[in-house]
Parts: sequence; structure tokens; C-alpha cells
Amino acid sequence: MYSIIARHVLYPVGEAFLGTRMLKYLKELEKTQWWSPERLRELQNDKLRALIKHAYENVPYYHRTFQEKGLTVNDIQAVGDLQKLPVLTKDIIRKNFSELLAKNSNKRRPFLNATGGSTGEPLKYYIDAEATSINWAGTFRGWKWAGYKLGDQRATLAGASLVPDKPPSLIKRLRWLGERDRPFSAVHIDNEKMALYADKISAFKPAFLRGYPSALYSFANYLRKNNLRSIKPKAIFTTAEMLLPHYREIIEGQFGCKVFDNYGCYDGGLQAMECTEHNGYHISVEKAVMEFVDKDRNPVHLGESGEILATDLHNYTMPFIRYAVGDMGTLCSEQCPCGRRLPLMKSIEGRTSDIIVFSNGVTLSGPALTLMFKDCRIKQYQVIQEAKDKLVIKVIKAEKYSDSDTDHFLKIIRAHVGKNVIIEIQFIDDIPLTKAGKWKFIISKVNE
Ligand SMILES: [Zn+2]
Repeated sequence: MYSIIARHVLYPVGEAFLGTRMLKYLKELEKTQWWSPERLRELQNDKLRALIKHAYENVPYYHRTFQEKGLTVNDIQAVGDLQKLPVLTKDIIRKNFSELLAKNSNKRRPFLNATGGSTGEPLKYYIDAEATSINWAGTFRGWKWAGYKLGDQRATLAGASLVPDKPPSLIKRLRWLGERDRPFSAVHIDNEKMALYADKISAFKPAFLRGYPSALYSFANYLRKNNLRSIKPKAIFTTAEMLLPHYREIIEGQFGCKVFDNYGCYDGGLQAMECTEHNGYHISVEKAVMEFVDKDRNPVHLGESGEILATDLHNYTMPFIRYAVGDMGTLCSEQCPCGRRLPLMKSIEGRTSDIIVFSNGVTLSGPALTLMFKDCRIKQYQVIQEAKDKLVIKVIKAEKYSDSDTDHFLKIIRAHVGKNVIIEIQFIDDIPLTKAGKWKFIISKVNE
């Protein structure tokens, strides 16, 4: 009943207020998921040509890039032609920020967003109502594969209110209410907090649970140890971190339902989600182009691991074309038994952030750290668990860094890890890369 009201009353009213078109896109995506690969490719190429034309005409950075490369709009007719264009890195975005903003972006209700995902240094970018609409439509489509209906009660155990001194906006709170989503912060989840969450979630009876794999794993372990079995969702959605196989096993065992893992990279418009076959991640090709390339940025063969490049087909406010999102993944040629022809990404390899566990049970993971450092004037950082209850934080200061930045992140981290953890801060000039050339921002030297 609520689901009917949600779909026919609450969402239409909410969308009229926010200027979004999620329901329209959801209807479209539910049709296109059954299209043939050829038809999907055609749709992608149509959207790509429109985006390229827009970028050339309205985005100074792309206008200049096309001219420097001696390219015209007609040179990019299909996804395969994207290789003629250079890769867009986070560094390039930071240096050309205002030039990447479309000249006519004002009419699109743009708003500033920032990454909170697996990379340590947050990236600010503009997005708009249109791109947000299809992002949400894609998420709901994927959830529906697990039986979700709009308005179904869900509890979220993640970084929703990670920074304690910032209460959520009124719009966000209204949205949670309408969507019947109850957020539980993945910060401070020691045993005491978990007992509280267990009571609250059990009383709320959510049809679906959603959250960071590490948080849901800790929660499942807590419930198991205390023999609490009253939380029985229909399915669980995990996102934002690598879902390790033993996490899946423990979570599914405790809650007695399936875990549907989701991959989302909204700065690149990317989205890939598991269906009931759990056979890989169906890519939402209707909203973004996903390329898999080697270190020379040539396409890898099917089944080979590659760096992911994203072209968001709907963010006209700040178009990212061939954006290096910082994740690795593997595309496969298999056809999913579910009948959907959206291509399958077999695995995601780039989200393995080490997870730190302290003796009080508190965990610290990549996405949580990213949010903690979000508003600090820090160029780079590295967090190392030197001993079971000792944390070393290495910081490279950015311009205008002051003691108030130290106070700010120290306060948040202290609140998160608890009183008994020793925190040492070191200011340094350089953070060495790993042998594989990767910058690890979270390291645990403690063996389990
Ligand atoms: Zn499938």
C-alpha cells in the first residue's frame, strides 16, 4: 500500500519540488535493461554524440582540447572513437575546474558535490538535477532486482552522518522520512552502539538493509555473538567498499537473506549492480560509458583486468569524458541467465581498502576516513595502524593549513576511535607509493 502511495503521490510531489525526473528515467531503464546489446550500443552512441556536441560548444576545456588535437565533433561518432580523446585525471579536473563547467550550466540546477569513495583525496565537482535523477533511477532499478519496491522500509548503516557536528539538511531528513529510510551512522560502532542499533533496527523492521560491507559485517558478528536473530530483511545492499567473500558469508548467514553488492562511482556516473544470479555486476550502460584500459591506456581484452575510465552521459553541467576514476575492474563476455543484456563486470579490484580494527571493536575503513578528512586543508594523508591501539597519521599540508585543521580532524577521529587509542600526527612532505605504484592511504601493520 505504502509503495503505491510512494510511487503515485510522494515521489511525483517530491520530484516536482526538487525539479528531478527520477520516475521518468526509472520507467525507461526498466525497459532498456531487456534490450539487445546492439540496441543498447546504439542508445549509448546516440547519447555520446549529443554529449560531445554539447561539450565542444559549451565547455571551454573541451573546446580547447578538441582544437589542440585537431578534432571536430564528427570525429567522435561511437564509443570506440573515444580513444582519440585524452584521459581526464583528477589532477586535470582540479587545475581546470572552472573551464570544465558548461557555460550554460545555470539552467540545469547545478550543485557542488564531492567524492567520498575509495580514493583518499576528495574531488569536488558539479552535478545537476538531471544526472542525479538517472543516478537514483539506476539505483532503484538495481534494488528492484532484489525485490525492492519504492517506499519499502530500509535501514542504512553507513557514513550518512559521519561528521557529528553537521546535522543533515531538512530536505535530506524529509527524504529519509518519505522513503522510509532510517540512517545509522557507521561511525563509533563499538559494542555499546551496536546494542542500541540492534534494538532500534529490530523495532523498525526494515524490509532491506543497506550499508558499508565492513559495518554490516561487524554488526552481523555482534548480533551472532549475542544470539540476536530478530532482524530479518528480504535482502541486503552493500556499497562503497570491497565486499570480501567472508563478509558476504557472515552477513548472509546472520540475516538469512542474500547480499546484493553495488558498485557506484557517481563522480563518473558509473553504476554496476548484482542481480539475483550474483554472477557479476550489470553495468548501467544507459547512463555512462565504461572503458577498461591498460597502463598505456589501450583497451584490455575481455576478461582482463583494466583501469576504469568513465564518461557520464547525463552530467551536462560538468562533463567528464574518459575520467580515470581510480578503480580497476574486469569486464566479461558472459551472458547472464537472468535475461538482462546489460554487460557484466566480473569483479572490481580497486576498492580494497585495508580495514583497521581496534581492541574496543571499532573499525576504521577507507570511505570513513575520506569523509573525516573531507573539509581539511590537507594535500594527502596516510593512516597507519602501528600497533593494536596506536594510530599514526601522516599529513601533507595544503596551502593555508592551520592548527584548526589539526583540531578538526583530530576531534572527529578521536570521537570515532574512542579514548584508548593513541593517535600520533606526523607532518611530512612526501608519501611513498607502494611497489605497484599505488598510494595507500590506510595501512594496518597489525596481523589479525
Ligand atoms: Zn543478471
